[in-house]
Amino acid sequence: MDFALTDEQRMMQESVRALMAREAPPEKIREWDQAHEFPDEVWRKLGAQGWLGLTIPEEFGGTGASVLDTVLFSEQLSYCATGLSAAFQRSACYGGTVISRVGTQEQKETYLPPIASGESMVAVALTEPGAGSDAAALQTRATRDGDHYLINGQKVYTSGADQADWLIVAVRTDPSAPAREGISTFIVPTDLDGLEIRRMDKLGNWMVSTCEVYFDDVAVPAENLLGDLNGAWQSTLSSGLDAERLIIGSHCTGSAQRAFDVARDYAVSREQFGRPITSFQMIKQKFADMAASIQGARLMTQHAAWLVDQGLPARKESSMVKMVASEMWNDVVYEAMQACGGWSYMMESELQRQYRDARLYTIGGGTSEIQRLIIAKELGL
Ligand SMILES: Cc1cc2nc3c(=O)[nH]c(=O)nc-3n(C[C@H](O)[C@H](O)[C@H](O)COP(=O)(O)OP(=O)(O)OC[C@H]3O[C@@H](n4cnc5c(N)ncnc54)[C@H](O)[C@@H]3O)c2cc1C
Repeated sequence: MDFALTDEQRMMQESVRALMAREAPPEKIREWDQAHEFPDEVWRKLGAQGWLGLTIPEEFGGTGASVLDTVLFSEQLSYCATGLSAAFQRSACYGGTVISRVGTQEQKETYLPPIASGESMVAVALTEPGAGSDAAALQTRATRDGDHYLINGQKVYTSGADQADWLIVAVRTDPSAPAREGISTFIVPTDLDGLEIRRMDKLGNWMVSTCEVYFDDVAVPAENLLGDLNGAWQSTLSSGLDAERLIIGSHCTGSAQRAFDVARDYAVSREQFGRPITSFQMIKQKFADMAASIQGARLMTQHAAWLVDQGLPARKESSMVKMVASEMWNDVVYEAMQACGGWSYMMESELQRQYRDARLYTIGGGTSEIQRLIIAKELGL
């Protein structure tokens, strides 16, 4: 068993940090966050350096990196810029992975190169007002109409829909089949007639939007069907969600490491009762607990990524990673704020943003409760 990173992996980590230090320093992140603005230019620079193509095969403009390399990258990106990392999760990882795995040759040639270069973005529209954890209850319909499908219905909480060029939309194509057997996915351009996107207000993660999407007789060419007709639950959706859970693991780990470092830098220089607060045992304990739980999530994520790279089953491990890492990030930010006191609650502090951003991650991408159900099922319970 060898836990050492290769020279290339270390260089990759340093190179991402250097790019982010130049293009997305903390003061810019605060500015974009408060303006609810996504930095398109930085996104394209990430694309130009090849980072957005990690999950995409070389023949389609990517670098075809291992899943382990992808989570190592994602941890560094989220350490520097949580918002960019969230977009990476959705567009490059979910979108790139799913189209690479189940897309036709023509779809791969059309969609993957611009996703890898950062010229185009994909959003994923699965959740509906009546179908959240029970995603297979979705009601948005697609009905065949000549060489098109007409889509009608509504999606909710679609991250980045108004920034995306295409949506990967899950729809019901066979209402008479059992819930999971009548679902298909389509690649839907966001500029089609009948499609309306409305931004929603939310607690955190302000650099990326979250939207409602309305479909009113949206005519999508039949060749935009992604994966098998009525077979999306077993192919498109499950492969995308498993990949997403690992990237969420590294996203939460990198962000938590950042919260830890910010809190430590503040705490070592903060004095009360005539000495640094880090000399108090209760504060030391907080930092020791935080460091141990961050390292635990990091190792779980890297191990699950390694399993996937070996072609071994990793469904249980992916859910464990999603559950442990997202809960860990919330716990770490809570303790980091407690260790820093009132300063951490002020808008000038990065920790208040982290506190708001972290809260999403035990909910989005499948709640902690749903991850526990998946783990229990995999354990035969
Ligand atoms: C900011 C944000 C961004 C998002 N981005 C996207 C996106 O880009 N694309 C997309 O498709 N979706 C997205 N989502 C949706 C997200 O995946 C769902 O919110 C999530 O799956 C939970 O669904 P729900 O919110 O409807 O909660 P519900 O399903 O209503 O769950 C409410 C509570 O009930 C619990 N619960 C439900 N069923 C069970 C059960 N069987 N056993 C035990 N407990 C249960 C849940 O764990 C939760 O605690 C986003 C959500 C948010 C908030």
